[in-house]
Amino acid sequence: MLFDTHCHLDDPRLAEDLAAVLDRATEAGVGRMITIGCANDVASVMSAVDIARRHPDRISATVGVHPHDAKHLDDEFGDAIHDAGADPSVVAIGETGLDFHYDHSPHAAQEEAFRKQIAIARQLGKPLVIHTRSAPKETLQILREERAKDVGGIIHCFSEDARFAASALDLGFVSSFSGIVTFKKAVAVQEAARKQPSDALLVETDAPYLAPIPKRGKRNEPAYVAYTAARVAELRGLDAEALAQTTYENALRVFGIRA
Ligand SMILES: [Zn+2]
Ligand SMILES: [Zn+2]
Repeated sequence: MLFDTHCHLDDPRLAEDLAAVLDRATEAGVGRMITIGCANDVASVMSAVDIARRHPDRISATVGVHPHDAKHLDDEFGDAIHDAGADPSVVAIGETGLDFHYDHSPHAAQEEAFRKQIAIARQLGKPLVIHTRSAPKETLQILREERAKDVGGIIHCFSEDARFAASALDLGFVSSFSGIVTFKKAVAVQEAARKQPSDALLVETDAPYLAPIPKRGKRNEPAYVAYTAARVAELRGLDAEALAQTTYENALRVFGIRA
């Protein structure tokens, strides 16, 4: 069985035919998913929690504010994230982190929102889902300074190199590989997927974004995590079944989900 550790099921592109999306996930052997509750207002964040509540046996949620939306995280929104984070269907805080590639929010706002969400995760005792792009040093530094290791978590949509993965793991963060690992040019990401210790390895889609080869350019959906898992298995010289089982068990452990 496969575990898609990161998808956005509340995105209108998936929400509009969610029943069919979930049926195809089941057919592809995807037993569980984490839907990321991440938007710039409380109502939209709660739509992910609602999806998880309706499918408690196979979907869990996260709540948080994406680095793109960091400028929207005021005290009131922070309190709402904290309250929503206490819900039993919510297994992590995020995605939070730094995105200095798109710079949709000023760096100072991103750093403040990141620190604030690490504090929330520590208060709730729940792990963090980290989004990091073009800010590897800064991300690791903030995780260290805010003592994120107490809760640990996931570097989602891994797009750095093996050295970064090792540094993150020292801080309690496992790496989740997305469709990027199937792209020909992603040599550093492939090397990281090969070298990552087997108990610190996850797979995800980040649907509806970033569909893996052979679906590249199409709308992504949880069923396609099978392509990513197959590529990671190939890189590690494993059969797909063994890789699926390992990453499934890792996900249950990291998110504290009792199967
Ligand atoms: Zn992300
Ligand atoms: Zn995401």
